Amino acid sequence: MRYHVWSIGCQMNTADARRMGDELELYGAEPAERIDDADVVVLYSCVVRQAAQTKVHNELEQLRRVKSQRPSMRIALAGCMVEDDVDELSLKYPFVDRYFSPKLDLPLRDQVFDFLDLDERYRLDPEDAERVHGISAPVTISQGCNRRCTYCIIPFRRGAERSRHPREIRREVESLARRGTREVVLLGQIVDRYGRDIGTTLPSLLADLSSVDGLARLRFLTSYPVDFGRPLMEAVAALPKVCEDVNLPIQAGDDTTLRRMARGYKVEDYECLIEEMRSVIPGLGLSTDIIVGFCGETEVQFQHTLELLERVRFDVVHVAMYSQREGTASPRLWRDDVPREEKKRRLHEVERVQARIAEEINQAMVGSRQEILVEGTRQNKWYGRTRNNKLVFFESDLPLAGQLVTVDITRATSWSLQGCPAELAVA
Ligand code: SF4
Repeated sequence: MRYHVWSIGCQMNTADARRMGDELELYGAEPAERIDDADVVVLYSCVVRQAAQTKVHNELEQLRRVKSQRPSMRIALAGCMVEDDVDELSLKYPFVDRYFSPKLDLPLRDQVFDFLDLDERYRLDPEDAERVHGISAPVTISQGCNRRCTYCIIPFRRGAERSRHPREIRREVESLARRGTREVVLLGQIVDRYGRDIGTTLPSLLADLSSVDGLARLRFLTSYPVDFGRPLMEAVAALPKVCEDVNLPIQAGDDTTLRRMARGYKVEDYECLIEEMRSVIPGLGLSTDIIVGFCGETEVQFQHTLELLERVRFDVVHVAMYSQREGTASPRLWRDDVPREEKKRRLHEVERVQARIAEEINQAMVGSRQEILVEGTRQNKWYGRTRNNKLVFFESDLPLAGQLVTVDITRATSWSLQGCPAELAVA
């Protein structure tokens, strides 16, 4: 049996796709590069942006063609495209055999078993899994979200917040580390809230995972301004394997826009939090997400976002144009009244301002010495990341993948750093 797992969108889909591939391999399946060569295809879909939704649709249309020639092929659709009621999807894509709703926490083993009618007796022990993943791998620790940001479809598709048991997470991380993964990125819609439903916390999970043999680094995302508390800051500062790297979406730098988005904080609250985080966590790398052109956003309100970027000076800004999602609150409440061309202009303006800020921040790192976790090679250079998540390239003839290397930074642009290895410190 050959399988093809495809995913688009957030890192949670990447993590789920990886776990699905692992599970299928426990039944002896082998990966197929192309859909045409696969007996089993699982798509992890995304509906957060129209572009992603269109790509999923195109992938499904390709599968329609392949399955018409090979009816024995088995196809499953997972991820946020799968609603509670799949009747409409079934009419549109009758060749799909199974739908896996992200709301239902059916263990992967059961999903696969149900989907493919496999014989449990021939499932390998997960301890014997051999498939190697990246040096850095995402691991989902919680699903769903209890908030209702007015533009966001995720709570409707992924359901209420629920945390995975720490023992199960540890087993997954140990298994990845055994196969060569050196860094895990713990994922949750609001990762800071991990454990509240099962009587534990993210700081305690980070402390526990810090003792996993072979693991060099831990990161976590995505954080939420209201939920990032002092104990988490102190854990990041105190635990050596936890990187000083936080993704804290603000979405807009204007209080009226934030209120319309129902984010539950003001710009001032956010900036106070950043100040506290920076005082507790030296060398903190900070990234954020911004939506431009939200319903009713005026030029003045947009300028407030640019001013915020100048004040906070993020390392990285992920910017997106607002796009209406059916089923969310914002289309019911307001018109999508910022024209597309204007949204594009605002997006480019954020990118322009941020490129300058990032270059200034990165230039200030020239001459510093950084610990890099080496992930691989690109264009004959090794690349990896600093603890605060800066991409660094350097040259060396040594086999360094997965190693911690100390690098002297010699050059910088907005997007990456260049350097020379100073010494090798294999962890
Ligand atoms: S916090 Fe808001 S933006 Fe994030 S997943 Fe929940 S509803 Fe969506």
